[in-house]
Amino acid sequence: MNMIQEILKRFSRKVFTGEDFLFLLNVEDEQDFQPVFEYSEKICESVYGRDVFVRGILEFSNICTRNCFYCGLRKGNDRLKRYRMKPDEIFKEVRKVSEKGIRTIVLQSGEDDHFTDEIMASLLERIKKNFNMAITLSIGERSYESYKQLKEAGADRFLLRIETSDEKLFKRLHPDGNFQQRKKCLHFLKELGYELGTGIMVGLPGQSCSSLVKDIFFFKEVGADMIGIGPFLSHQDTPLRNFRPRKFFLTLKVLALIRCLLPDVNIPATTAMGTIDPQGRQKALAAGANVIMPNLSPAVYRPLYQLYDNKICVYETSANCLSCTEEIVRQAGKTVCLGRGDRIKQ
Ligand code: SAH
Ligand code: SF4
Repeated sequence: MNMIQEILKRFSRKVFTGEDFLFLLNVEDEQDFQPVFEYSEKICESVYGRDVFVRGILEFSNICTRNCFYCGLRKGNDRLKRYRMKPDEIFKEVRKVSEKGIRTIVLQSGEDDHFTDEIMASLLERIKKNFNMAITLSIGERSYESYKQLKEAGADRFLLRIETSDEKLFKRLHPDGNFQQRKKCLHFLKELGYELGTGIMVGLPGQSCSSLVKDIFFFKEVGADMIGIGPFLSHQDTPLRNFRPRKFFLTLKVLALIRCLLPDVNIPATTAMGTIDPQGRQKALAAGANVIMPNLSPAVYRPLYQLYDNKICVYETSANCLSCTEEIVRQAGKTVCLGRGDRIKQ
C-alpha cells in the first residue's frame, strides 16, 4: 500500500498527526492526491449530504482603520475611492436578499469606526425583527462588550480569520495588529455563543507547510464552526504587490485536510478560490467545501471592494451572482440549500 493510502487508513481510524498532514501538503502530483480529495468529499457528504448552503454577502463599507499589508482596503491605500452604506440602505439590500429566499446574510466591512455598537445593534435588531435570517458579521476586532451587545441585538455568527496561526508571521503582516489580541477576540466570540468562523490565507510570504499544519490544528483547538480558506492574492496598491505565489493546489489540499480533521464544520468555496482558478469553487466543493457565498453587494460598490486584484463577480448584478452560484453548485453535482445552514454538530 502506498503512503497516501496508509494515511487515509489512519484518518478513517481518526488518527491525525502533524507528520501525515505535512507529508500530504508536500505531495506535488495532483493525480496522486486525488484519493484524498475523494475521501474528504465523502466525509463532507457523510454530514451534509449533497447540500451546499448559500449565504449572501453584503460588503457595506470599504473604509478601514487598519493597514494589513496584504489587503487592498488598507487605510494607506489612498488610490481607492471609499464608500459607506447607510443603515437604511443596508436594510433595503438585506430585504432583497431575504426576498430571494436566502436565509443567511453575511455583513462584511473594513474596520470602520463609524459603525458604533449603537448603530450596528439597531441595524441588527431591525433585520431580526423583519426577516427570518441568520446574521453573520465580519467586521473585524472589537471589545468583549461590543461583541456582547451585537450578539444580544441579533448577530448569530462572526467571521474573523486568524489569517495565520504563526505569531511571527502574523506580526510581519499586521503593522497595527496584535496576535494575542486577535486570539482573544476568537475566544470572546466563542464564549458569547456565536457560531465562530475563522480561517487563513494560503501562500503568504514566509509561510511554510509546517505553519499550515499548525493552522489546521489551531482550528480544532479554537473550536471553529466555520473555516474560510483562500489563497493569498496580491493587490497592486499594497506593499505585497510584487509577491505573486498563487498557491491554488496547496489551498485545496489545506481545505481537504481540514475537512478530514473536522467533518462537521462549515467550509465555504471562497471567492478567492474562484478568482485564482475559473473552476476553483467547483473544485473546492469536490474537495470538502459545503458553503458558497454569492456577492450580493450593490453593483456600484462592488468594484470598490477589491481586497485583491481581479476579484471575480465585480461586474455582475446580484441576480447574476445568484444564478451563477446555483450553476456552480450544479456543476459540482450538489444541491442548493437556501436555509440557515447552521453547523450540524456531531
Ligand atoms: N475587515 C474584516 C473583514 C474584511 S477582510 C477583517 O479583516 O476581518 C476579509 C478577509 O479578506 C480577510 O480576513 C482576509 O483573509 C481576506 N483578504 C484580504 N486581503 C486579501 C488578499 N490580498 N488575498 C486574499 N485574501 C485577502
Ligand atoms: Fe481592513 Fe480587514 Fe483589510 Fe485588514 S483585512 S485592511 S482589517 S479590511
